[in-house]
Amino acid sequence: MHEYKGIIKLTRMRGESIMLTIKDKYVFMMSKDNQPIISVDANTTICIETKDCFNNQIDNEDYIIDELDWDHINPATGPIYVNGAKKGDILKVKIESIELGDAGTMCAISDNGVLGDKVTYNSIKKIPIKGDKAYFNDIEIPLNKMIGVIGVAPKDEGIACGTPGHHGGNMDNTKITEGATLYLPVFHEGALFSLGDVHACMGDGEIMVSGVEIPANVTVTLDIVKGQTIENPMLEDDQYIYTIASNEDLDKAIYTATLTMNEIIQKQLHYDFNEAGMLMSACGNVEICQVVDPEKTVRFSTPKKVVSQLF
Ligand code: CA
Ligand code: ZN
Repeated sequence: MHEYKGIIKLTRMRGESIMLTIKDKYVFMMSKDNQPIISVDANTTICIETKDCFNNQIDNEDYIIDELDWDHINPATGPIYVNGAKKGDILKVKIESIELGDAGTMCAISDNGVLGDKVTYNSIKKIPIKGDKAYFNDIEIPLNKMIGVIGVAPKDEGIACGTPGHHGGNMDNTKITEGATLYLPVFHEGALFSLGDVHACMGDGEIMVSGVEIPANVTVTLDIVKGQTIENPMLEDDQYIYTIASNEDLDKAIYTATLTMNEIIQKQLHYDFNEAGMLMSACGNVEICQVVDPEKTVRFSTPKKVVSQLF
């Protein structure tokens, strides 16, 4: 820790819970070279204020997208240094709650997204949020609040917050939501955790490169799992465990997520490769997170009736 100057050090008496809000410190790249803004002990609950992926630059539908400062998009609040987290550990992130702002922003941008060649003009849409619904014109869309960008300092070079990878990052995974627990590999002391890019709603794939982008307050509990190592993020919620993988090539991402799940099932159920594979083929699902970021992200889900927990 001593190499960081000016950092807030937050220590906690045993059993005491701490709730504080961090804000106004953002990174646009996840990197081992980022100076942490705070250090917390393991098992600390912390509220993190996030800007939307446009860095809150778009305040109305007449905003000219060409004026966006593309060097400052996808801000992630942080990083947070988790005391005791060492290379090879796992950072355990329980998503306690996501509180949204009043309105979200969407956009269509030429040459962006699955159908980018068909987008003939750029446009912006504001999406009001009322109660548990988002309003697209007069169509009510149930919220599926989720965190788009969440991760740790990557192993080697810094990675822009708009790109996903082994460290997490811009995974745009609709299952990273309230009640879920995300597991991230720790590559550097303290993990250097940050998050941002909350969506009020997003469909799997995020075909136009934006969900309903919105500022938020996200409360997470950060903890450390010792004695086990993972290469890619993993996730669990009430019903499923998930492996996650990102790659420029969607097929390669699917391969990695599927192979990783196979290894988990082999280990936990003492099955051989074929048995684990057939079980997955019977009741597991390859699911798309997003197909529009520099690397595409997929997850493989297995019901908890088959494997009850990851760690
Ligand atoms: Ca995103
Ligand atoms: Zn987003």
